[in-house]
Amino acid sequence: MEELLDIEHSKEEREDFAGYKISPTMIFFPKNESEVVRIVKYAYTHNIPIVPWGSGSSLTGATACKDCILVDLSKMDKILEINDVDWYVRVQPGVKLIDLYEAVESKGFFFPPDPASFFLCTVGGAISEGSGGMRGVKYGPLREWVLSLRVVLPTGEVVKVGEPLRKNRAGYDLTHLFVGSEGTLGIITEAWLRIIPKPRKKIYTVKVLLPDFSTVAENIIGIRKARILPEFSEYIDADVIRALNRNLNAGLEESEGGMLLISIEEDQLQDLLKVLKGKVEVLEGDEAERLYSLRSQAAIAVKAETRTFYAEDIVVPISKLPEAISKLNEIAKKHNTKFYIISHIGDGNLHPNIVVDDEKEKEEIFNEIAKVAIDLGGSVTGEHGVGIQKAKMMSEQIKSHNGERVLDLMIGIKKMLDPKNIMNPDKYVELAYKFK
Ligand SMILES: Cc1cc2nc3c(=O)[nH]c(=O)nc-3n(C[C@H](O)[C@H](O)[C@H](O)COP(=O)(O)OP(=O)(O)OC[C@H]3O[C@@H](n4cnc5c(N)ncnc54)[C@H](O)[C@@H]3O)c2cc1C
Repeated sequence: MEELLDIEHSKEEREDFAGYKISPTMIFFPKNESEVVRIVKYAYTHNIPIVPWGSGSSLTGATACKDCILVDLSKMDKILEINDVDWYVRVQPGVKLIDLYEAVESKGFFFPPDPASFFLCTVGGAISEGSGGMRGVKYGPLREWVLSLRVVLPTGEVVKVGEPLRKNRAGYDLTHLFVGSEGTLGIITEAWLRIIPKPRKKIYTVKVLLPDFSTVAENIIGIRKARILPEFSEYIDADVIRALNRNLNAGLEESEGGMLLISIEEDQLQDLLKVLKGKVEVLEGDEAERLYSLRSQAAIAVKAETRTFYAEDIVVPISKLPEAISKLNEIAKKHNTKFYIISHIGDGNLHPNIVVDDEKEKEEIFNEIAKVAIDLGGSVTGEHGVGIQKAKMMSEQIKSHNGERVLDLMIGIKKMLDPKNIMNPDKYVELAYKFK
């Protein structure tokens, strides 16, 4: 590896947010695309597994590896252009989302996707995970904001896919093949992302304390039937509220059914208030911002409380939320455990956290919950991706909803782009295929 040692490097063990281990032969910190190319070409020539790293906030073991080359993109952190006519921002992959928000906001723009890890995760990591977030209800996941990418392929070739245009029908949509590819098809070195003007309408945050867990489904279904479109509808259960109070001094009022937090434009506020059930309070200003920030730190509070963060990421059709909630209650009762549920409930996306110590039981609970989503016509992952954690259940979902041929197509794409299987191997599609 001597020929690469002029590139900034180190050798250390790492652990991601969920506790998966990374034991690399070497970590490189490239400063530009040509350094990435050199590293990838070396790995390709010498058949060494190579894994991109953003900030390690993945929850599924997506960067876990042993005897690999880890490519830490954190030094490629420049915002290269904010185009105020074509309305895009061009960035390097190591830019943190929080810095991107600040930069575009200072020019009167808004980049809506906000995974709750926005204060630490990078653009490259969030694109590669196909991240969602809180404002997904109104603005959709990050996928919908990616226009074009530069990618170093596993062979070391560089491609630019897509165009920084709102409309572009030239060829297969390769840009969105790389979105959500979890670092298994190449390393993103530049991204063009869509931005919009900062919204001008006044936005309120509505807090609803709920008498029980099932009332949250009633509220969300009521909102949908009334044709109301919030910016976000977030839910945390009673144990998460307690974890926030105990570990982050949140000072939140406790409620056995948990808390629903809805962000809504002023012209829809009165209609919203008519359909809500529970103890309702309308907030604006500092308190609204404080609650948004506490919601985004809920996973940190749960980890501090339980010393673990093993989160599901199931999605169910919103019409099926009542059944999903009743099944989750049954599973918790059967295993005599709590789930510390954090949820982008407005998207039907729930994150029950499994806090049992016994590894076998943990796996059992995980699979039982994932099966609920599959049986209800949902998905085992809405936004966290698959990594190692969900490969088996991803395979189950695709076999059940799409058919085995779709797994064949996916592995075919992986083999075509990564003929030596060096790019983040042994996870995601490749691992799911082994469960075929
Ligand atoms: C507190 C907390 C809250 C979270 N909340 C949400 C949420 O609300 N919504 C949501 O969707 N997710 C959420 N997540 C998980 C989410 O997957 C990550 O936070 C984020 O998207 C990953 O960004 P990262 O920079 O940390 O990437 P990493 O974890 O370092 O990497 C993630 C994946 O991307 C790959 N990768 C990284 N950079 C590149 C690159 N330049 N090119 C190619 N591949 C690359 C890696 O190999 C890996 O497969 C949360 C996580 C935490 C810890």
